[in-house]
Amino acid sequence: MIRLLSTDFDGTLVDHYASPPVAPVLFELFAQLQRCGVLWAVNTGRDLRFALDGLREFAFPVEPDYILTNEREIFHRNPQGEWQDYGDWNRRCLQAHERMFQTEAPMLNEMLRFIRDETRAEPIYEENKPVGLVAQNDAEMDRVIAHLHKARKPDSLFHYQRNTIYLRFCHADYSKGAALGELCRLVKISPKETFTAGDHHNDLSMLDGRYARWPAAPGNAIDEVKEAVRKAGGYVATARCSDGVVEALRHFFEVERLAPPGLA
Ligand SMILES: [Mg+2]
Repeated sequence: MIRLLSTDFDGTLVDHYASPPVAPVLFELFAQLQRCGVLWAVNTGRDLRFALDGLREFAFPVEPDYILTNEREIFHRNPQGEWQDYGDWNRRCLQAHERMFQTEAPMLNEMLRFIRDETRAEPIYEENKPVGLVAQNDAEMDRVIAHLHKARKPDSLFHYQRNTIYLRFCHADYSKGAALGELCRLVKISPKETFTAGDHHNDLSMLDGRYARWPAAPGNAIDEVKEAVRKAGGYVATARCSDGVVEALRHFFEVERLAPPGLA
């Protein structure tokens, strides 16, 4: 039985090229699943405010139970209805990143030098700290990644999350997958009862079967994602974005007999 959904947002639930961007059938299915007790986490590269903006912008009539942000943080609602840190994960995550950026300062500086001298990519700063970059195109991002792997020591904690032409520097132990693993622990739901869906590089960590037994990719996902999902025994949909997520869920409910009790 599936008890927890962990879905990426942009390119997985939301099709920025379609009208409507989210298929009404997804809203209906998610509402039905929540009534059956299934929990839903948005697992996104957006920060919390931007994720909430997205849910409003695309008029989601259903609300996620959890929002996993920046490819690593976990939020839930407190009894007053405000979104707040869930457990101490976010605090530990922040500390780990502060330590990593200190010990890996030479690596970070080398990446900033490479970006400045050898690309037309732009570094991204938050609170005056370099946190990532935006490349001109995929080919330039490929070059940045290749350089990062060349410059990085094999046991380095300096890692990254790649999403289209955006890249975020991060601690190697933190990812969408790791955050989903912690959420499963907090809500006492097994990865064997967890469905996940994503479309891009930054989703790979939650699609390889470790943190969710039932991974899926919509038809518009990049080839690496489709390959990872197939390898993990998941489902690659034909339809794009939200229609693809609905297609995948129906596959798991009907073919794998994973529907929660009460699902019509
Ligand atoms: Mg995406």
